[in-house]
Amino acid sequence: MDPAAEDTGVLVRGDVVTMAGGTAEVRSGAAVWICGPRIGAVGPWDELRAAHPRADVVGDGRGLVTPGLINAHQHLTGDRLVASCIPEAISSEEAIFGWAVPVHDAHTADDDELSATLAAVAAVTNGVTCTVEAGTVAHPERVAAAVQRVGMRTMLGRWGWDAEGVPFGAPADEVLDAQRRLAERYPPGGLVQAWVTLVGHDLVSDELFAGAADLARRLGTGLTFHMSPHDRDAAAFLARTGQRPLVHLDQLGVLGRNVLVAHAVHLDDGEVSAIATSGTAVAACPWAYLRLAQGVTRAGRYAELVRAGARLAVGCDSENAGDAVDVLRAAALLVGLLRDGSGDATLATAADGLAMATCRGAEAIGLGGITGTIEVGRAADVVLHDRRGPQFVPPSTDPVRQLLWASDGRSVADVWVAGRRVVADGRCVTVDLDALRAEAVERRDHLLRARL
Ligand SMILES: [Zn+2]
Repeated sequence: MDPAAEDTGVLVRGDVVTMAGGTAEVRSGAAVWICGPRIGAVGPWDELRAAHPRADVVGDGRGLVTPGLINAHQHLTGDRLVASCIPEAISSEEAIFGWAVPVHDAHTADDDELSATLAAVAAVTNGVTCTVEAGTVAHPERVAAAVQRVGMRTMLGRWGWDAEGVPFGAPADEVLDAQRRLAERYPPGGLVQAWVTLVGHDLVSDELFAGAADLARRLGTGLTFHMSPHDRDAAAFLARTGQRPLVHLDQLGVLGRNVLVAHAVHLDDGEVSAIATSGTAVAACPWAYLRLAQGVTRAGRYAELVRAGARLAVGCDSENAGDAVDVLRAAALLVGLLRDGSGDATLATAADGLAMATCRGAEAIGLGGITGTIEVGRAADVVLHDRRGPQFVPPSTDPVRQLLWASDGRSVADVWVAGRRVVADGRCVTVDLDALRAEAVERRDHLLRARL
């Protein structure tokens, strides 16, 4: 350790939930010492203050300190600039071809950067320190610039698919080549690192799925794609292959511990088993399924995935499918759906929700040894939640239960990513949001006009 850093750094004071070992134990009257990009110490406030008298102090002891939140599926481009603009009472075909495709098509490189900047500001302000991007069509390097500026840990993705006659598609070898180039530019280990990212659904050939899985293993990256948020993917796979999607992909050799499937709502028993036995992770984005009427309450199998030991993380999807980039809000809903759908109050609790949003989420995206817990040597991805709001009066004897069920991102006050403070007193300090408001309105109007 740098001796000069020994007595400086930052002490974050409050009740601390480290999530070490996956348990939501609360250490009252504690502090976390952030030293450079890592966590240097966790312990009683009095002891850490005495040991680091020159450290800056954030928090007066009344807040709750948790690991940074993991958003395992978030579109950083395409929707942000038309956030909550796509009508609700339309078919999914109209939403895709009447809105998503023309809006994506009209995006400039500047739009991609502005969109990702705004989405990342929304994320960090709600305590998200790490995001798996769901895929950018055209300008991933501009997305990288945006998230670097905001300071959010990001798994960057260039969207690929090879179905013929579909907008933005390309032959499998071209898609793989573009994925490889991005991964080489943003290699594993960086704050911003690329993943092999396919759109998934029934828009990807077996050749491209298998090639992408092989590429991700060779490069040491994750592989992510969408599958079965609705029941149409299963119908398409059954017609083409005679098998349901995740059984087919398992037999192709695609699934594995470096694979993160977004959604996986509509599954049969064989698919639940394929996910669990292959160690494949799932990003559950429950607000999107409710918002888009996709059927999680009538057909979702998340309870079965949990019982089978599958690795579940939480995602927020997009600003027209869930809308709020708020992992706490999504985690509470996911826990509620697990409890209600199973009728089993022991299946998942608020502590499980926080675990899926932190340590288990980090493990699911391959960053288990790096982030997701507050432990010495881990990345200093830390959130201080302000508990002065009315939802915390009186404070519960179980702070995690109250955080998850009674609050959400609104209580996030201060956020560090790899030791860099990106949110202070509830405001993003790396990007001036006010300076982007007028441009955001102008580009929103431009994109909405472009679809006419
Ligand atoms: Zn998505």
